[in-house]
Amino acid sequence: MMLNLVLFGPPGAGKGTQSQKLIDRYQLVHISTGDIFRAHIANQTDLGQRVSKLIAAGELVPDSITIAMLEEEIDKNPQAKGFIFDGFPRTVAQAEALDRFLESKGSGITGVVALDVTEEELTVRIAKRKAVSNRADDDSEKLKKRIEEYFNKTIHVLPYYEKQGKLTKVNGIGDIEAIFEEIKGVVDGFQ
Ligand code: ADP
Repeated sequence: MMLNLVLFGPPGAGKGTQSQKLIDRYQLVHISTGDIFRAHIANQTDLGQRVSKLIAAGELVPDSITIAMLEEEIDKNPQAKGFIFDGFPRTVAQAEALDRFLESKGSGITGVVALDVTEEELTVRIAKRKAVSNRADDDSEKLKKRIEEYFNKTIHVLPYYEKQGKLTKVNGIGDIEAIFEEIKGVVDGFQ
């Protein structure tokens, strides 16, 4: 049985930080769609050129492009014991596509951990990250757009998984290690 986790949360919730800790502990393959898009942009691939403006503006990349890219990443790792999906799915259509794709491989999502963070805290964190990240989409205008995309489109992914009985919320504010302990407890419960 594969251990396939979705780490869910708004921009700045700490998905990247907690993903890194999860990979180390569970030997999962980390798939961050944001990281993959940024690598394409840095390498000036065709895909990178198609998505760079959208990403810089804080808008979501169209589902068709994102889903195709994600499926390709999964297929690059046939030996994986499991995956941690970070920044994907961001729409219900993406969640459905992921279910169908994993199902076609005789697998599925094991569980979803949603990091709960207030909008106030998110704004503070991203302002700090901006100073070091060099990300065009971390400035305040673009951030507003990203948070808007989250509340318009991405939030609907939560009830999708809740209906499947796969959703667990974890408080994402506080000490990084303490948050990780809580996530670990949830993930150990999946196995
Ligand atoms: P954040 O730090 O806001 O969670 P990410 O690094 O996950 O951001 O993603 C950065 C940007 O990449 C998003 O604002 C969006 O433009 C694009 N992106 C990443 N993942 C997806 C996805 N699953 N669907 C559509 N667009 C995506």
